Amino acid sequence: MKTAFITGITGQDGSFLAEFLLAKGYVVHGLIRRASTFNTGRIDRIYVDSHNREARLFLHYGDLTDGGGLRRLMDQIRPDEIYNLAAQSHVRVSFDEPEFTTDVVALGTLRVLEALRNAVEALGKPIRFYQAGSSEMFGAAPPPQNEHTPFYPRSPYAVSKVAAHWYAVNYREAYGLFIANGILFNHESERRGETFVTRKITRALTRIHMGRQNKLYLGNLDARRDWGYAGDYVRAMWQMLQQKQPDDYVVATGESRSVGEFLDCASALLGLDWKKVVEFDPRYLRPTEVDFLQGDASKARETLGWRPEVSFEELVRRMVEYDLELARQETLLVRAGHRPEATGASRE
Ligand code: NAP
Ligand code: GDP
Repeated sequence: MKTAFITGITGQDGSFLAEFLLAKGYVVHGLIRRASTFNTGRIDRIYVDSHNREARLFLHYGDLTDGGGLRRLMDQIRPDEIYNLAAQSHVRVSFDEPEFTTDVVALGTLRVLEALRNAVEALGKPIRFYQAGSSEMFGAAPPPQNEHTPFYPRSPYAVSKVAAHWYAVNYREAYGLFIANGILFNHESERRGETFVTRKITRALTRIHMGRQNKLYLGNLDARRDWGYAGDYVRAMWQMLQQKQPDDYVVATGESRSVGEFLDCASALLGLDWKKVVEFDPRYLRPTEVDFLQGDASKARETLGWRPEVSFEELVRRMVEYDLELARQETLLVRAGHRPEATGASRE
């Protein structure tokens, strides 16, 4: 039975990856941050009380800003595989919190790599490491982007991911460690954070459909992204760690759509005319934008045998259906006299 350690297990990808690894028979350990409210909503469905002998998912408090804690955890968990997914992952927020973003995304990765290096030395066992890189690292480089495309990051988040990528390459070369960088293009799901544009759109349009809100405020509708389904992308992470040699891979669908096209697709499912409800708010523009991302995942296809299974239309349909059900539940609660909760996007 293999043991995996996931940082960022409470996030969108962490929750899909934990499910995927548990289904493969792994023991899974996850890093969670202490918060004054529970932040484990995405993994509650798979959590079994650790007193139960059947439990194979264990959670540990820690933070990517706390290197000592990470080293201690590594000695305790003795993982076979580490998936470093933790990040301040929101591009626009990274302009508001550049130092914090750098501390978590760039230095945080370095701290996990140092903990890995120490553990491999101290425990004398091989440990495989996955680093969650991003298509944002390509930024202004023209599409299609693949492993040979030079990075041109356009935000503090993207610059930090580039630093993390090169730390990972350097640790692989300097210490002979098994480290793979995934360069994943945008991937979404019904578990996507509510301030990312896809989920913001499906949350808002379904609420508008149910009469729970009137307007949706957005920024640049012309930006193009290569949007895939998160469940497909965590499979690629695992596949990268099952290879003979560590390497770096672009993971993408190869198709690109604009934010406007996402709106077309989601509103068609609801019979809405989004042009009547969407308003422009410059608050959602970025000081430097990434205009056009479209990945070329030939290497992942040929070497890993990876292919996306969920199409763009199916992705949007899943998100709309899920959020429609949420909007229906909200409507019932309000009718029963409960005060409605603010949506994530309204807090952005
Ligand atoms: P996400 O939903 O925002 O999850 C981020 C995770 O990191 C959460 O578990 C979060 O914990 C944790 N985290 C944040 N700051 C931390 C800190 N200081 N110490 C420890 N944990 C911390 O992101 P995601 O969409 O799952 O993405 C996973 C990874 O892939 C991220 O590194 C992201 O940058 C990268 N990525 C994502 C995409 C995409 O399209 N989704 C594309 C390319 C790369 P809380 O729950 O407590 O906030
Ligand atoms: P990103 O690709 O990691 O930045 O993912 P996002 O989902 O945050 O943004 C995708 C694209 O949607 C970017 O080009 C944004 O500028 C654009 N966008 C337009 N309006 C909004 C908005 O209201 N919120 C967010 N998050 N993005 C928006």
